[in-house]
Amino acid sequence: MHGSDGATALLDLNGLRVGAHELVDDEWWLLVETTADVVGCSRCGARAVGHGRRRVQVRDVPIAGRPVRLVWSKRLWRCPDRDCASGTWSETHPAIAPRSSLTLRAKEMICRRVGRDGASVAQVAVEFGVGWHAAMSAVTEIGQPLVDDPARLGAPSALGLDETSYLRANATHPRVMVTGFADLDRHVLLDVEPGRSGGVVRDWLDHRETEWLASIEVAVVDPFRGYANALVDRLPDATIVVDHFHAVRLGDQAIDDVRRRVQQQTLGHRGRAHDPLYRIRKLLLVAHERLTEPQQERLIRLIGLGDRDGEVAAAYLAKELLREVYAARRLSWARARLRRFYRHCDRSGVPECRRLAKTIRAWEDEVLAFHATGRSNGPTEGINLLIKKIKRVGHGFRNFINYRLRLLLHCGGVEWQTPATTRVRGRQPRFAA
Ligand SMILES: [Zn+2]
Repeated sequence: MHGSDGATALLDLNGLRVGAHELVDDEWWLLVETTADVVGCSRCGARAVGHGRRRVQVRDVPIAGRPVRLVWSKRLWRCPDRDCASGTWSETHPAIAPRSSLTLRAKEMICRRVGRDGASVAQVAVEFGVGWHAAMSAVTEIGQPLVDDPARLGAPSALGLDETSYLRANATHPRVMVTGFADLDRHVLLDVEPGRSGGVVRDWLDHRETEWLASIEVAVVDPFRGYANALVDRLPDATIVVDHFHAVRLGDQAIDDVRRRVQQQTLGHRGRAHDPLYRIRKLLLVAHERLTEPQQERLIRLIGLGDRDGEVAAAYLAKELLREVYAARRLSWARARLRRFYRHCDRSGVPECRRLAKTIRAWEDEVLAFHATGRSNGPTEGINLLIKKIKRVGHGFRNFINYRLRLLLHCGGVEWQTPATTRVRGRQPRFAA
C-alpha cells in the first residue's frame, strides 16, 4: 500500500495512515492501516511476526459534508515462541473500539450534534452514513456519563419545580406528566422524573447528598400541594415561593372558565368563530398594559356585547389585581393589594373568582414569599421552551430514558469539551508544493 500523505493529514488520526481513498456512492472510502511496524508480544516481549491482515470497517467523522468509511486493514500478529500463551492477536487502536461501527471521535461528534445542538438523531445518522440505532447508541454511550456526572448538579441556592407534559393522551394511555427540577441560579434543567406527585419529589430529593440539599434556600413551585408538602418534608429550611408565572396562570384559567360558562349560558352553545367573547379569548389573557389602544377598544366593545352580567370582566379584573400583587415593590404594598384582590373576588358573585381567591388564600405565604426572595420560575419557563423544542425534534418520545437523556444533554448544564476552533485569517502557511 502506498501512503497518501495529504489524505493522512486530513484524516488526522494518530497512528493511522491512509493508503487509498475513493468516492463511492457519495461517500469517502479510506483504506487505512497503522504505522506500527515493530510490535512486541505482550507476554514475553519477543518481537511479533506478521500473521496476515483482516479488514474491518468503521465510520468516522464526515469530510466536506460526506460520510466517511474507514476500511482498516488490521494486522494480525503472532508470537514466534511456540510455547508462549499469547498465540495470535489482532492490533488495536485507541480511536476505534473493538467491534464498534464508529470511531470514538465520530461518536463524540454525534453526541454533541444531537445533545448540545438539539439536532435530530435521524438527521445526524444520515450525515454520518449510519442507521438511527447506531447514532442513538453513540449518543447514549458518550452522553450518559456526562449526564450522570454528579458535578453536573452544581450547588444551586434556588430550586424550581415544574410539570411538563411528556406524552399526550391517546387511545392507549392518558396524558403523561413529568416533574422537572431546575437550578434557578444557572438556568439549568437538573432532572426530569415521570409523574407529578409529592412522592416523585421526595424520591428525587432522597437521592441527593445532604450537602447539596443544605445549599438550597428557596424552592419555587406551582401551587400544587403535593410538591409543597414534599419540600416541607425534605427541605424544612427552604422558603417556598409561588411565583407570578404560576399565579397568573391560575388567573388565566379563571378567565377561560368564566368565558366558556357565560358563552354556554347566553348562547346555548360552545364558543364559535363569530361569538364576541370567543373572538377576544386570546386578548383576555394578555397583560392589560401590553394591549395596544385599538386592542383595548376591541376588548371593551366585545366584552360589552357578550358579557351581559359583567362576569368575564370581573374575572379579567381579578387577574389584573393579582398581577398587581406581584408588581408591588414592597411587601406591605403587596399585602394591601392582596386584600383588595380578595375583596374584589369575594364581592364579584362569580364562582370562578371566588375559587381563585380561595386558592390564593391557601397559598398566601408562598405568594408573599415572592417579595421576600425575588425568586421566580422564569428560568424554568425558558427551560420549558427548550423542552418543547427537543420534543418537536424528537417527534414525541416513546422512550423516557432517551427523552431524559436528550433533555439533560441539551439544557442540563453538561460541560462540553469542544475542539478549539482556529481562525480562518491568521498565520499563512507556506505550502510546500
Ligand atoms: Zn510471546
